[in-house]
Amino acid sequence: MPIYEYRCESCAGKFEVLTRFAERDSAQVCPACESTKTRVLVSSFAFASGGDTSSVSDFASETGGGGGCCGGACGSCGSSPN
Ligand SMILES: [Zn+2]
Repeated sequence: MPIYEYRCESCAGKFEVLTRFAERDSAQVCPACESTKTRVLVSSFAFASGGDTSSVSDFASETGGGGGCCGGACGSCGSSPN
C-alpha cells in the first residue's frame, strides 16, 4: 500500500498514513490532536493544478495498474519491434 501525506486542519501538523488508494481521500485521524479535520496532500504527482481530481484518479488507476501497454489497441505499440 502506498503512503499518503496528510495535513491536519486543526493543528496544521503533517503526518503520513499507509492506506489504500481507495481510502486516500478519506479523513484520517491526526496523531497529534486526534482531529479528523485532515486532508490528503498529493506529493507523488502534480495533480493539484487541474482541480478535477476525480478524473485524475480514474486516469491514474487505468495507467498505473497493469504495467503493460494496450496490447496493440492503440496502434503504436502493435507496430513496435519491441
Ligand atoms: Zn492535528
